[in-house]
Amino acid sequence: MQTTLMIYDGTAPADSDVPRTGGVPLAPAGFAWPMCGSCCGGPLQFFAHLPVEDGVLSVFVCQNDPGACEFWDASSGANRAYLFPREGLQPVAVPETGLTLLPATSAIRTQLVTLDPDDTDDDDDGDELVPDAYDLARSDWKREPGERFGKQREVLGSVGGSPSYLEDDRLPACPSCAGTMDFAAHLEEGISSETAMNLGGQLGYVFVCRACRAGAFFTD
Ligand SMILES: [Zn+2]
Ligand SMILES: [Zn+2]
Repeated sequence: MQTTLMIYDGTAPADSDVPRTGGVPLAPAGFAWPMCGSCCGGPLQFFAHLPVEDGVLSVFVCQNDPGACEFWDASSGANRAYLFPREGLQPVAVPETGLTLLPATSAIRTQLVTLDPDDTDDDDDGDELVPDAYDLARSDWKREPGERFGKQREVLGSVGGSPSYLEDDRLPACPSCAGTMDFAAHLEEGISSETAMNLGGQLGYVFVCRACRAGAFFTD
């Protein structure tokens, strides 16, 4: 089982074209900052800039009313994910009011982790639980022999692979063509509670429709 974890790698310049959470979004000219379609209609908060093979994933989440605003629903309007072309991106003008930017810009490095599910020494209460590649990789990150927990907070998510513990009925439809979408990335809240995105303690999922260059984001 292989998982490409995204690991916290210190801070990054706010407008850099590197994998990061926080900072200022980079987008094509003319891009308008997305507003929430679920609560007060205020601006979404910029979450992540993730260069991928065929462009840049750009993710926004509403933080105006966490708990009430339905960021667990990909179609609620409380989240937005885009697949931008890599060229011609420029910093987006930030709205003057609202919860638009995270308190810190966090650089991300990727780390390929290979795990044999038979080697993991979790206390098995039963054998009905199917091993989950992302969950195993995250739980094992920097875990010393004999220790129960590693440094999970350093794990900011993963790219590629398959969605962790996601029921089929939660798979999103493309907002443009209504077709099935490909899983692209997991996003965790962040390295520290002071600088993290509030996802209600849940894991975030990014999906993409490459034909439409459309994205979707929602939480567990
Ligand atoms: Zn909202
Ligand atoms: Zn589509």
